[in-house]
Amino acid sequence: MTDLKSLNIEEIQDFVVKHNFPKYRAEQIFRWINTGVSSFDEMKNIPKDLRSKLSEYYYISVVNIEKKQVSSYDNTVKYLFKFGDGECVESVVMSYHHGYTICISTQVGCKMGCKFCATGMQGFTRDLTPGEMLCQIETAQKDLGIRISNIVLMGMGEPLDNFDNVVRFIHLVSLEKGLNIGKRHITLSTSGVVPKIYKLADLEMQITLSVSLHAPNDLMRSATMPINDAYDIESLMEAVRYYIDKTHRRVSFEYAMIDGVNDSDSCAKELGKLIKGMLAHVNLIPVNSVKGSDYRKSNKERLISFTNILNSYGISATVRRTLGSDIDASCGQLKGKYKEGG
Ligand code: SAH
Ligand code: SF4
Repeated sequence: MTDLKSLNIEEIQDFVVKHNFPKYRAEQIFRWINTGVSSFDEMKNIPKDLRSKLSEYYYISVVNIEKKQVSSYDNTVKYLFKFGDGECVESVVMSYHHGYTICISTQVGCKMGCKFCATGMQGFTRDLTPGEMLCQIETAQKDLGIRISNIVLMGMGEPLDNFDNVVRFIHLVSLEKGLNIGKRHITLSTSGVVPKIYKLADLEMQITLSVSLHAPNDLMRSATMPINDAYDIESLMEAVRYYIDKTHRRVSFEYAMIDGVNDSDSCAKELGKLIKGMLAHVNLIPVNSVKGSDYRKSNKERLISFTNILNSYGISATVRRTLGSDIDASCGQLKGKYKEGG
């Protein structure tokens, strides 16, 4: 069985026509699934025989809110969503002056095993379907009574390790008749799956690519990110340059600032040399604490000095504000599980 939510209008049209129903029914069905219905019976204006035909071939993915936490610092909301098979992921809704941004998950767990990341420590369970990615947004919008304007694929999972489903999701979510969140409002973050960066570039979509770099050389990067052994920094940079050439989009580099590990002036200089002249921006993220790792945040002096050095290479860099830290909703803290005692 296929998730009906993962289909686009044309595919629903093919199904409807093939089963001798008028073509316009497809658009009605598509609208229903984008309002977050959880069963075929809720599709009031769809005839019963078409509803039952649909249910022979498809299911509608749903998520239930298993747990919801609201930060008392900044109103960031973290959801623990549970899918039909009992698997859970987390999503985070952040409120900015320009609107609401949701950080969604693309997999249950992750294979990449980055040493500083709670998701990485729990291993991989399964990919999410495009429909399950849409569900996270619809359910949060419904629950909060808001319209979400921006999406970041920075929750649990490595988006490029679930390439086809993620690309399909991006197309679906940006459809005018769907959730209508434009591609320019979508950011995809990757730990650096090089062949998939080329594949993504060739699609020439107007999304923002964010690359989790976190170290200025291979020795340091391999120590925290196992993926660096498969694709080293040089091959990653080449792929990123190709992406920029193809899409003309500014890329952002994520750099988690870890006290005494990768935050020295010489690291900043090495990083400066590495990305000098690229159409890129650097986001410095004071590393968030995660159970099972003893990395600590860099101090303010380090953050300022690092930023200044990057600026001296003509690179724009900003320190990312940490949101929702009291509810473990910050980068790398998502586990998709209840915390013991929490
Ligand atoms: N798998 C993708 C996207 C999800 S992780 C990726 O790695 O890019 C989202 C971002 O959070 C990445 O930049 C990741 O490196 C970062 N991150 C993970 N753990 C972190 C932590 N403990 N502190 C700060 N950032 C972290
Ligand atoms: Fe996976 Fe990203 Fe976490 Fe690395 S940082 S383990 S790629 S989710």
